[in-house]
Amino acid sequence: MRASKMYWYTLREVPAEAEISSHILLLRGGYIRKLVSGVYGFMPLGKRTLRKVEQIVREEMDRTGAQEIGMSALQPAELWQESGRWGAYGPEMWRVKDRNGREFCLGPTHEEVFTDIVRQNVTSYRQLPVNLYQIQTKYRDEARPRFGLIRSREFIMKDDYSFDRDEEGLDKSYKDMYQAYSNVFDRCGLTYRAVEADSGAIGGNNSHEFCALSDVGEEEIIYCESCSMAATAERAAFKDMAAETEAEKALEKVSTPGTKTIADVCKFLGLPQEKSIKAPLFVVQADANEDPKYVAAFIRGDRQLNMCKLVNALNVPEYAVEFADESKMSALTGCVGGFTGPMGLKNCTIVVDSELVGLKNACAGANEENFHYVNVNYGRDYKGDIVTDLKLLQAGDECPCCGSKVKSARGIEVGQVFKLGTKYSEPMNLTFLDENQQSHPVVMGCYGIGVTRTMAAIVEQHHDENGIIWPVSVAPYHVVIELIKPGDEAQEKLAVKIEEELERAGLEVVLDDRDERPGVKFKDADLLGFPIRINVGKKAGEGIVEYKLRRESEITELPFEEAIIKAIELVNKEKFGK
Ligand code: ATP
Ligand code: MG
Repeated sequence: MRASKMYWYTLREVPAEAEISSHILLLRGGYIRKLVSGVYGFMPLGKRTLRKVEQIVREEMDRTGAQEIGMSALQPAELWQESGRWGAYGPEMWRVKDRNGREFCLGPTHEEVFTDIVRQNVTSYRQLPVNLYQIQTKYRDEARPRFGLIRSREFIMKDDYSFDRDEEGLDKSYKDMYQAYSNVFDRCGLTYRAVEADSGAIGGNNSHEFCALSDVGEEEIIYCESCSMAATAERAAFKDMAAETEAEKALEKVSTPGTKTIADVCKFLGLPQEKSIKAPLFVVQADANEDPKYVAAFIRGDRQLNMCKLVNALNVPEYAVEFADESKMSALTGCVGGFTGPMGLKNCTIVVDSELVGLKNACAGANEENFHYVNVNYGRDYKGDIVTDLKLLQAGDECPCCGSKVKSARGIEVGQVFKLGTKYSEPMNLTFLDENQQSHPVVMGCYGIGVTRTMAAIVEQHHDENGIIWPVSVAPYHVVIELIKPGDEAQEKLAVKIEEELERAGLEVVLDDRDERPGVKFKDADLLGFPIRINVGKKAGEGIVEYKLRRESEITELPFEEAIIKAIELVNKEKFGK
């Protein structure tokens, strides 16, 4: 490819909303262009890298025996009604109507569609297992699209669905996918961690997320260096403190004027925060036509509430839960802003963190302005409608598995694998007959990779202040040949010769024949991030060129034949990953 002919335009003025390196560099380098918030188009270089990431994913999926199909993004509402998710999915789903008023969505995911496809043919154990996937455009009307390809409203996902006759079969499918995902991310040059994860709206109870480590990642990972515990912070279990053995003292109401925060009240009463109970309040409303429901969560004063655990305990969609305005709910529930406690609350669901059951003689709000109770004890003084772990595990807390102190890191979720079980096959009636003509629901798994997000994560991990540094496996071109003086016969001849020989060996090459100053051309090459640069300049007549790797600062002068051999060797060694 000649640079002078390439449809390629860098962006000088990157919009302020581009805050992270991958977003800035992909825009600046002319890899992607924004159409509207959260919706991007791929320019020729961007499309080449995207295709390489897709191809890596495809090869690793195929290697497991999975087969590629292609389903539409447009999905009829009826399928989602069958699974019960039409109502549950919430405002992230793009809903559209046809001219007759029939409802559809632009698929955020495809469990229903794949379940429907398989139930049309599979009736017998002899036809199982089945494993199908697609690499396809997904739509999610994200509340906060940001970071370019990392959280967009239209994105490419590889989604795979496995269908087995039993849990044992699912275990194998899951293991195969887990391995394939590790291969994919290795080949993409990513440093990542596979961690235990929550199953979210997809459901099921066994899941891992693959997170590319990055300070700009939205996922918080908690891990332990003494054992193998590694989980998203949302998911990580928390070990309750041992139940206290002290005797329960008499309940007492005390005046605590102006003490609205846990810190204030504990200081005023001379108690450590571990002896206090705080009460974040929530309103739950999945649908504007429903009446709001109120929830009071109780947790030790020094702990952090884990929203994901609360949402799971309430068994409602995540989008339906918000912090409540205490003044709006006080007449109905009896709570008093800053002085809310578990005793005397009404008309709301009380969710109690499991640790409070063993906490003795704590202080808590009295639901009366300027008053608290002391010596509050679970069971005797209050009870929860739900009692469960609500705590957020944070760096420095005890590992729930081995008791060492855990650490935290940030990551970009590039893939997730789920064991679904019969969550979709049961309501959608995907069953098979076994050897004895007994009917059973098919046992399913689902497995997603954010292909466009993976491309951005690669840039996040592979760049410097000058631009992108693509791993060979996903680089849009392997080599850029810089023709230093276009029009110079010796230089042109040698540049073309090198281009031809590299291409003959299967390498992908850009010949930068633009009539620009060398400094400008080198800067562009650094921004774009091609792994190998060969400069053909003054010594072309003697067959001498300069050879430079994007990831190293050193430039070496050498005979062009050697440069060709070095480039071919490097690409062949790294094209399937380092
Ligand atoms: P997140 O928690 O980041 O919103 P998710 O858990 O909802 O993602 P999944 O349903 O597991 O996402 O989708 C599979 C994969 O698709 C994710 O692992 C991620 O890589 C990718 N993905 C999800 N949402 C987006 C998005 N808005 N933009 C780009 N990629 C996405
Ligand atoms: Mg996920």
